[in-house]
This record gives sequence, structure tokens and C-alpha cells, in this order.
Amino acid sequence: MFEGLSTRLSGILDRLKGRGALSEADVQEAMREVRRALLEADVALEVVRSFTDKVRDRAIGAEVIKSVTPGQMVVKIVHDTLVETLGTDGVALDFQAVPPVPILMVGLQGSGKTTTTAKIAKRLFEKQKKKVLMASLDTRRPAAMEQLAVLGKQVGVDTLPIVAGQSAVQIARRAVEAARLGGYDVVMLDTAGRTHVDEALMAEVAEVERAAKPHEVLLVVDSLTGQDAVNVARSFTGRVNVTGVVLTRVDGDGRGGAALSMRAVTGKPIKLLGTSEKMDGLEDFHPSRIANRILGMGDIVSLVEKAAESIDAEKGMAIAKRMQSGQFNLEDLKDQLDQMLNIGGMQGLMGMLPGVKNMQKQLAGAMDDKAIKRQRAVIQAMTPWERRNPKEIDGKRRRRIAKGAGTGPEEVNKVLKMHRGMADMMKAMGGPGAKRGPMAGLANMFGL
Ligand code: GDP
Repeated sequence: MFEGLSTRLSGILDRLKGRGALSEADVQEAMREVRRALLEADVALEVVRSFTDKVRDRAIGAEVIKSVTPGQMVVKIVHDTLVETLGTDGVALDFQAVPPVPILMVGLQGSGKTTTTAKIAKRLFEKQKKKVLMASLDTRRPAAMEQLAVLGKQVGVDTLPIVAGQSAVQIARRAVEAARLGGYDVVMLDTAGRTHVDEALMAEVAEVERAAKPHEVLLVVDSLTGQDAVNVARSFTGRVNVTGVVLTRVDGDGRGGAALSMRAVTGKPIKLLGTSEKMDGLEDFHPSRIANRILGMGDIVSLVEKAAESIDAEKGMAIAKRMQSGQFNLEDLKDQLDQMLNIGGMQGLMGMLPGVKNMQKQLAGAMDDKAIKRQRAVIQAMTPWERRNPKEIDGKRRRRIAKGAGTGPEEVNKVLKMHRGMADMMKAMGGPGAKRGPMAGLANMFGL
């Protein structure tokens, strides 16, 4: 469903994410493009607006964490805002009530209500070993009742025997009573749908709700209908106490607008997704997974998260200050190497960045984890005084350090040379707009 949106957004963010420095104007421009992409994906205008405003404010106000580029930071902010718009945490169906727990299924005709009823029943029965009874309340369409009975047989779940001439409310009462007497855990009530939202339908659904006192009221909407799905949801939520939304046909080529607008517009969580006509085509809705699907940048998001987790911010700030004032000593270099190893080393860092596979090969000798550990060992073999005064390390000291680190003096030279190169570069980068932070030098050196 999200292909179009996904292609557009990843295109926009791809351009941002490699950039070392981003100006406010860059962010503004990117947000204009994001806004266009969301509108084309049929996301409700109010949602688009609040989305892009949030991202812009967060991106401009954000302190870029060490070891990621500002572009990568923006990717993470877009991702997090997307997750938030989609509803943050997935909300599961709730069965915490005295059985038989009534579930009311509502929605327009053709939205996939009956199919979804049977899918949920199958899942409850097979995965959670619940005893489920299903009943169709569609008194106007005998074919709908038949359809549920057929699906019931197919998935091995009981359906309430059809009795001609009963009203929807009467059937609902009979279903709940039969479920109680029969020792069922769950009773699913599949209400009648109409092709459009109309007053008679709403009145009937509301009446059934009063009679059956459902624990969950699931609204089934067709994702292919885009913003209409959201409007339908708005009408239903005004009349019945909808507890969750099931978005069907996400296997189709819908543009994603319904999924993105639903929570923000109706305040109701999407709980499930219908992913095929088949009875096992039902998935839990996880905002973060969907956001990853849309952005296709899970790697970068976890990179930023990992970096944020493993890097000591205060230490980072202190080092950053020293760097800018040109005092970058070997203690600081050792801290940087430690941090790199913390976030999974060079291999881990590279593996998480798409498009750097080639570079990874080139760096394999020069900057792999073994090399980092070797360099660290060299610094560890120095005295604190030597670390603060690398210029004073003469041939004699060099040999002693090499011995202590279990390598040759040429390794010590390499570390000293690397430190000098970085210290110079950092001094040069101290100007306004420069990429800062303890990893900035390394990141720059490797062109990250
Ligand atoms: P109802 O009128 O709301 O009860 O809708 P139905 O359950 O009869 O579904 C209408 C049609 O949509 C049927 O042909 C279903 O097989 C199909 N359908 C339902 N859910 C999905 C879905 O998630 N994906 C796809 N591809 N088809 C679906």
C-alpha cells in the first residue's frame, strides 16, 4: 500500500541523509517536498500540516548527536514523527472481561467486515485457543448470513443458527445468551453494512451496542478509499464507542493516506490490518514497523538510536569543546575509539549505513575493529602525561609504548599521525556551521 509514498519520502531523505551540514532552508525545502508527498498519498490536510510542522520544529531545534550526520538525524526525526502520527505503540485487541466477551464489528458494506470477523475468529481460536461464536446481524441480506456460516465452517468456528424474522437487536441478544450457555469465550457480532453512512444504519448499530454491551467495537474500513475511510470512521465514532479500527486491503495499491490520517483525525487506534482475501491475511498494526516500511530507513534509525544510547553526552560535550579550542589529545582519541567500538565498531557502523558497502571494503584493512583495538592498546600503553603531550613522545618513549602494546614502533607512529591529522581537521572545523561532536572528525574523515 505504501509504495508510492515510500519511494517519494526515501528519495527526499536520501538526499538529506548524506549531508554533513544542513541549514534551516534545507530543512524547510525538504519539508515542502514531504508535504507534497503526503498530500499526494491522500493524507488529510490537517495531519500533513501538523506532521511537517512538528518535523520542522524538531529538526531545527535538535541537537545533532555525536556520530551521526544532521541528515541522518532528520531521517530519525521524520521516522519518530511518523510513528507518533500512526499511534506510537501498537494496541492489541482486549479480552480482559468476563466471558463471553462480546466484540461488535461495524462498517460499510463491502469494507471487508464479514471476512475480518472470520479472520479474527480463526486467530482467536487457533492461536489463543479461545472458543468463539460468530453471529451475523444482517437481516436484510440473507446472503451475508450465509457467507459468515460458510466462513465459519472453513475456519472451524461456530456460527449462531439463522432464525428468520428476527431483528438485529434480537439476534445480538440471542447470540450473547447462546455464547453464555455454551461456555464460549468470545462472541463476535457482525452487523449489517450499507453502501453509505446513513441514519438508519447508525441507529441500528447504536441500538445493538446498547443491547450487547460490547467490550470491543471494531470499525472495519477499506484502505483503498483513502480519506473517505477516515470520514466514515469519523461518522461512526460520533455514534458508537469505537475501540479500534481494522484497515483492510492494505495488500492493494492504496496510497496510505487512510493509515496515516486515521489515528490523528479520529483518535482511534488502528489495531489490525487486512492483508489478503485469505483467512490468514490479518496482521497486528505496529506503528514503528509501518514507519520503517514507509521510509525504508530502519538502518539509519537504529544507528541513531544506538549512537544516542551508547555515547556519553556529557563527555561528548566536553570533548567537543576541547576539540574546537584545538586541544584534542590522545585521551580524547581513545574515548572516540571506545565509542566506535561501543556502537558495534567500524563493521557495525558501516553495516548500518546503506550505500557504503564499497567503502567498507576499502576500510577493511585500515580501520577495522582489530585496528581500532590495536590503536587503543597503543594509547593505553602511554602514560597520562604522554597522552596529553603527544609532541613530547620521542624515539625512546615510542619503543617503550610499542613494547607495552605488544606491537612495533610503526604502530605508535600511525596513531600519532592519525591524532595529528584529526586534531588539525577539528581545529579547521571549529567555525560556524561545522559538524561538531566527538565523532565529527572520524565521520568526516571517512566521508560519512
Ligand atoms: P462486508 O460487506 O464488509 O462484510 O465485506 P466482505 O467481508 O464481504 O468483503 C468484501 C470483499 O473484500 C470480499 O471479496 C473479500 O474477500 C474482500 N476482502 C476483505 N478483506 C480484504 C483484504 O484485506 N484484502 C483483500 N485483497 N481483499 C479483502
